[in-house]
Amino acid sequence: MLNSRYVEMTNHESVIRKIFMYGKERAAQIGYENVFDYSLGNPSVPAPERFNGAIRDILRTQDDMAVHGYSPVLGISEARQAVAASLNRRFGMHYEEKHIFMTAGAAGAVAHALRAVLEEPGDEIIAFAPYFSEYKPYAEGAGGRLVVVPADTDSFQIHFDALERLMGPKVKAVLVNTPNNPSGVVYSEETLLHLAQILQDKQSEYGHSIYLISDEPYRELVFDGVKAPYVASCYANTFTCYSFSKSMSVPGERIGYVAVNPDSEDAGCAVNVFGQISRETGHNCPPSLMQLAVARCISDTSDLSVYEENKTILYRELTAMGFSCVEPGGTFYMFPRSLEPDDKAFCERAKKYDLLLVPGGGFGCPGHFRIAYCIPTEKVIRSLPAFRMLAEEYLG
Ligand code: PLP
Repeated sequence: MLNSRYVEMTNHESVIRKIFMYGKERAAQIGYENVFDYSLGNPSVPAPERFNGAIRDILRTQDDMAVHGYSPVLGISEARQAVAASLNRRFGMHYEEKHIFMTAGAAGAVAHALRAVLEEPGDEIIAFAPYFSEYKPYAEGAGGRLVVVPADTDSFQIHFDALERLMGPKVKAVLVNTPNNPSGVVYSEETLLHLAQILQDKQSEYGHSIYLISDEPYRELVFDGVKAPYVASCYANTFTCYSFSKSMSVPGERIGYVAVNPDSEDAGCAVNVFGQISRETGHNCPPSLMQLAVARCISDTSDLSVYEENKTILYRELTAMGFSCVEPGGTFYMFPRSLEPDDKAFCERAKKYDLLLVPGGGFGCPGHFRIAYCIPTEKVIRSLPAFRMLAEEYLG
């Protein structure tokens, strides 16, 4: 008999994966170029040439065991130092190697951060709708309960009244994701400072630390003219979770980190605690080759300009067709209102035009749908008549 909780979870497999698989089937029938698959957040631009070059050079010049051997549990020094120096240079922080823990992507980073702060059964983690749907299994797998603050659907900034109502004594951490999947919205400085003030007040009221876990895989995907404040500079008790998956288009390489704010209460021990968590979960020693490669290319990104171009076209055209949407400030997602309250029914109807969209309910925000526009611009343009026909069904 297998663990019943996991067996039960197999009945609730990812909606996004299901839609993506449907897209593959449909592509086999009508051709890949005729399916407008906006389901999956898989980057669509190549990795930086310098990154591929660094891998080739490392393989040619470095000792086999340095490249293919186990990494130290906390990560390879060179990578940890490069991350700390990059964050200090860009955001005026004062991280040192001892504050950086290398992980397998942002998923690994968030999972470690959550386990580090959760103690008692029933401890709570706050997340804000709309939220990345994997937060629920991450939180529950770490023994916590995800408490979702409903969305402010006019701006997709934070609904502070709802947050204050839900911030009870069991809350051990607040999980934010900016720039946001699925809304594409970037939290303003005002939002972050207001959040920081509430967390400070609640720490004093309840007499225990409340961590801010900032999940930032889209940090580099910010559009022209948008300011994306560095979250950890607003609040001392912050764990910053990062991934190179999206900025360098390398999600399959599984590489990221947690950066522990040097001003946080547990700055002296948090990274060692993460090391112990890895022992328990078996998710230890992220790939050495990838750590060495990101250390050499810490300031590089893929050419991300296609995402802004796609956003500009989709936002302009969809709003002209009658869709209502908060304009994204970054990422490669947008999150318009569905043209009927039932977002699932709406996305089902979109399939008629081979438009694959993801219902908002899975992100804790029904009545909306997600467009992952990490696809070629020519395909975005060819998909517009499909959006138009869909809109006409509702709006005439
Ligand atoms: N967090 C958010 C908000 C994401 O969108 C994703 C992936 O899409 C992840 C975490 C996981 O990222 P990674 O592939 O780096 O583990």
